[in-house]
Amino acid sequence: MSVADLLDDWFEHDGLKGSIASSGVVGVWAGPRTPGTAYNLLHHALGEIDGIPGGWGQVIGGMGAISTAIARSAEDAGAVIRTDAEVASIDVRDGRVVGVTLADGSELRAPIVASGAHPKTTILDLAGGEHFPEDVSRDMRRYRTRGGSVKINMVLSEPPRYERVTAEEQHMLERTGVNLCPSIDYLERAWQDATLGKPAEGPYIEVEVPTSLDPTLTDDGTTVMTMFTQYGPHDEAGWPEGAREAYAGRCFDSRARGGGVGEGELQRRSGLLKCRGDGDRVVRREGGGALEEPPRARRGHRGLDRHRHSQHPAALRLRSARAAPP
Ligand SMILES: Cc1cc2nc3c(=O)[nH]c(=O)nc-3n(C[C@H](O)[C@H](O)[C@H](O)COP(=O)(O)OP(=O)(O)OC[C@H]3O[C@@H](n4cnc5c(N)ncnc54)[C@H](O)[C@@H]3O)c2cc1C
Repeated sequence: MSVADLLDDWFEHDGLKGSIASSGVVGVWAGPRTPGTAYNLLHHALGEIDGIPGGWGQVIGGMGAISTAIARSAEDAGAVIRTDAEVASIDVRDGRVVGVTLADGSELRAPIVASGAHPKTTILDLAGGEHFPEDVSRDMRRYRTRGGSVKINMVLSEPPRYERVTAEEQHMLERTGVNLCPSIDYLERAWQDATLGKPAEGPYIEVEVPTSLDPTLTDDGTTVMTMFTQYGPHDEAGWPEGAREAYAGRCFDSRARGGGVGEGELQRRSGLLKCRGDGDRVVRREGGGALEEPPRARRGHRGLDRHRHSQHPAALRLRSARAAPP
């Protein structure tokens, strides 16, 4: 079942359906009318945090704090961690894995190799499909993982201010994911653009201000604002020169219409310190979308790699209320 069919069964208001439908397409190469996306909505509503069913959390210290905690725990258990150590091959002898060879030529021997790289990379590029049963390597060759998500990270001199809201609403809006997706048709058009190999003319956007919940992300009082957006085409050819900047500009415009502030306003009012250009580049991953590289150049900003909203049921109601027409 598609998320559009599911929501049509329950709701009438386009803004409400659009806002909820976006959770059915987050992180998947699918549109709101693609069968199966109703499950993706359920997937994002599972779990709980601090007793709030379906709530999402924000990691204090940024997402990197999770990997750091895992790393420290592994080291406590005796693991030795090496970074900047590209694996050139997973070595197999007589049908058994015997270790890995790094890009610098050094060899590490081990009876078991656990890989966190994409299965296609692990099996076809690193180990070699010839070491697996034919049906496994054939399935891997046909395994498609595509992403349409585009993330934009910004550093601002102060938090963005919403217009025509009370102080209480402003406080809440800074501390939740603000979802700008006015209708299912709007979302479907954005998806269709990506299937045709173009960045969406009208992207759907989730805005967050992680420093509102976690001021430790910066050490100079600046504000981190992120936009999780969809859709972008999954291959490089869909992002010709200037397409990235144009897409980000459309996200700022949409943000402005949603009651927040646009890029011009950000520069004038909040002092947009860094967002794109200046050596930033789109980084791609197998199975992921295009991620706008975090603004690492500035000293003192950490944990900007990936954030997820901290959603509160009351805030979820606001997400719908704030969805604005394009
Ligand atoms: C835009 C976007 C937003 C997301 N938002 C969220 C979110 O809000 N919340 C959430 O929970 N999840 C989110 N995710 C999903 C989350 O990022 C992934 O599920 C998670 O990062 C997967 O972790 P992993 O370790 O399996 O893979 P990865 O993070 O991809 O790690 C694999 C690592 O292997 C390394 N590698 C590959 N090949 C080699 C090699 N030959 N030698 C050495 N190293 C190699 C890569 O460099 C990489 O560091 C998001 C994903 C995207 C794309």
